[in-house]
Amino acid sequence: MATPSPRTARRLQNVPPTIFAEMSALAVRTGALNLGQGFPDVDGPPAVVEAAVEALRAGRNQYAPGPGVPELRAAVAAHQARHYGIDLDPDTQVVVTAGATEAIAAALLALVDPGDEVVVLEPFYDSYVACIEMAGGVRRPVTLRAPGFRIDLDELRAAVTDRTKLILLNSPHNPTGAVLTRDELTEVARLAVEHDTLVVTDEVYEHLRYDGREHVPICTLPGMWDRTVSISSAGKTFSFTGWKVGWATGPADLVATVYSAKQWLTFSNAAPLQPAIAHALDQEAGFYDLLAKDLQAKRDLLCDGLSRLDLDVFVPEATYFVSTDVRRYGYPDAKAFCLALPERAGVVAIPSQAFYDDQDEGRHMVRWAFCKEAAVIEEGIRRLTSADLHA
Ligand code: PMP
Ligand code: GLN
Repeated sequence: MATPSPRTARRLQNVPPTIFAEMSALAVRTGALNLGQGFPDVDGPPAVVEAAVEALRAGRNQYAPGPGVPELRAAVAAHQARHYGIDLDPDTQVVVTAGATEAIAAALLALVDPGDEVVVLEPFYDSYVACIEMAGGVRRPVTLRAPGFRIDLDELRAAVTDRTKLILLNSPHNPTGAVLTRDELTEVARLAVEHDTLVVTDEVYEHLRYDGREHVPICTLPGMWDRTVSISSAGKTFSFTGWKVGWATGPADLVATVYSAKQWLTFSNAAPLQPAIAHALDQEAGFYDLLAKDLQAKRDLLCDGLSRLDLDVFVPEATYFVSTDVRRYGYPDAKAFCLALPERAGVVAIPSQAFYDDQDEGRHMVRWAFCKEAAVIEEGIRRLTSADLHA
């Protein structure tokens, strides 16, 4: 993409282009292995692809209903009941979106007024910053620090005030791989109730957890149901990131609020893919259990390989990603390290500084993806090990 025009609206002028597109373009341009952007190199279940083909052939090719096809809304409700004991009315408490990305955008555009404060975990997924800016909100980051990336509860208590409109959570967390504990979530919930804030929670990695870590949806904690929008997506759960089928769930009034923005963003999305994802949710629960096991082994493979380099490796509890501190290689920052990496080692990784306001915390962090075939990870490690990575 070219540089945006100087006539770009002010609300977008402070939003840098997404680092994922930049680094994936770099991988394509240089032919380097892409351990950057988080997408699997093996597709999800073949039966789900067949269900999509069937839907295409059956003529489900015109606009889906704006809130989503009934069978997908029912399947999302059944999934929430099965895994978390959450009882949803599929007609009023589920809205289907163009990936979690649209659910996040619609929630923030529909709930945040100019000047409203949004408390957000830092490092943040990059679309959060863009959407808070587009809504005119003010972000109040709470930093998760290496090595453990736990929430500093004092920092959280200082950030959440009566000016806070909403707390934007992400657990399991990209890029750190932290899974928020019940204790951390309980304190978030207590503050949300005390200051009467909303919570928007991005749980796209809900099933990709390791070492038996528990995922607690914050909407299940006392006092939280009426104030929480929960977001997830089929992209990560079923390895169909390109389908962009996601959803938001919650109390009917908040789901209607998300829909009030969604209807003007895309109106509706992915008509033939929605019944296929309904099939996936109803029939393919075994897929994500196996995927998590497979990813845990790949996490270990990549973390072991990176540990043998001169890197501090922060082993993740969940997600596709591992973070490392690259200071010992002597670059001024991790972006310079990542820009040199394709030529030096034939590998692409993501500089995490794009996910931080606090550059003292983020300048030296690099994120690596392990949602790749084992042979690709092994080849990446081989290349990194045989390269001279020092500045
Ligand atoms: N939130 C997080 C934390 C992510 O890592 C991603 C990337 N998949 C998204 C949201 C976007 O999800 P989707 O591809 O379903 O739009
Ligand atoms: N969620 C993916 C990641 O963190 C990328 C999605 C995107 O490119 N927007 O790598």
